[in-house]
Amino acid sequence: MRARVFSGIQPTGNLHIGNYLGALRNWVKIQYDYESIFCIVDLHAVTVYQDPAELQARIREIAGLFLAAGIDPKHSAMIVQSTVPAHAELAWMLTCVTPIGWLYRMTQFKARADNQETVGDGLLQYPLLMAADILLYQAALVPVGDDQSQHLELARDIAQRFNSMYGDTFVMPETRLPTVGARVMGLDEPDKKMSKSAAGANHAVALLDDPALIRRKIMRATTDSNPAVDFDTMGPGVENLLSIFQAFSEWPDEQMKSHFAGMRYGDLKKTVAEMVATSLEPLQQRYREIMADPAYLDGILREGAERVSPIANSTVEVVKKRMGLYTRA
Ligand code: ATP
Ligand code: MG
Repeated sequence: MRARVFSGIQPTGNLHIGNYLGALRNWVKIQYDYESIFCIVDLHAVTVYQDPAELQARIREIAGLFLAAGIDPKHSAMIVQSTVPAHAELAWMLTCVTPIGWLYRMTQFKARADNQETVGDGLLQYPLLMAADILLYQAALVPVGDDQSQHLELARDIAQRFNSMYGDTFVMPETRLPTVGARVMGLDEPDKKMSKSAAGANHAVALLDDPALIRRKIMRATTDSNPAVDFDTMGPGVENLLSIFQAFSEWPDEQMKSHFAGMRYGDLKKTVAEMVATSLEPLQQRYREIMADPAYLDGILREGAERVSPIANSTVEVVKKRMGLYTRA
C-alpha cells in the first residue's frame, strides 16, 4: 500500500504564488507517488469571519484552481473539509488530550491574536483541527509551506501524546517543504510572508491576476537602496524577487548568479514579472475551461468525500474504542 499524503488550503482569499510554490505545485509533483488527499479547509476559514456568499464562491474557485494546477481527480481525492464530519469529530477528541499551553505557544496564534480586543476560540483551536485533518487519514507526509512547520510539529506532539495515553493509534506525519519557494514574502513587506488575508493591494500576485496586473504589482515591489543586484548585500525584497524567479524557472544557483548579478532593479522586476506571467498562463487558461462546467466540479468534490469518508470514519471508530467512548458491539 502506498503511503498517504494530506494537505489543505483555506478558502480565505485569492490564492497567490506563495500558496502555489509552497504547496499546490508540490502536491501536483508528488501526487502519483502517494495516495493523495487534497482538502479545501473551509472549517479553518471561518476561524475569522467570512462573508457567507463569498466563502461559498471561493470554495469552488479553489477547487477549480486545484484542477487547473494539475491535481488529477482520477488519482487524488479532492475534498471540502466540512463535507466530511469526522474532521470536527476527531478534533474534539484531540482537544481533550492537548494541553492548552501548547496552543498558546503557536506563533501564528500570537500574531493573529495580537492587538485584537476579543479573540475567537477558533483561532486558538486552529492547529488542533489541523492535527485532526492530518491524523484522521493516517497521513505519512504533509507537503506545506514553511509557515506551517510549527503546526506540523504540534500535530506530531498531539499524536504522540494520544499514542502514549491510549496505545499506538496514529501514524507520525512528516513535514515536506519545497527547496525553493517554501516562504514567499509579501511584495510590499518583504519581512512578512505573503498571505491571502493580508490587506495591501500590491502585497501578493494572485494566481488569476492578468499579465498587466502581475507586471504592475511586481514593478512596485519593495527593494532596497542598491541600484542593482548584488548577491552579497541584497535586502529581503530583492532576495524574494530572485527566489520567486528561481522557483518558477527551476534554474540552478550558478545560472541565477550569472544571469542576475549586476542587473538593475527595473530590469530585474521586468524579468521576474515576465517569468511569473508566462508560467501562470496555462493554469489560467485551464481554470477558465474548468469553471465553465460547475456540475463537473461539484461531482469531483462529492466523489472525493465518498472516497475518503470510510478512511476517516474508521479512524474515528478506532479512536472512540481506544478512549472508551460508546461504540456498537
Ligand atoms: P491566510 O492568510 O488566510 O492564512 P495563506 O496565504 O497563509 O492564507 P493558507 O491557506 O493558510 O494560506 O495556506 C495554504 C498553504 O500555502 C499552506 O501549505 C501554507 O504553508 C502555504 N503558504 C501560505 N503562504 C505561503 C507563502 N507565503 N510561501 C509559501 N507557502 C505558503
Ligand atoms: Mg495561512
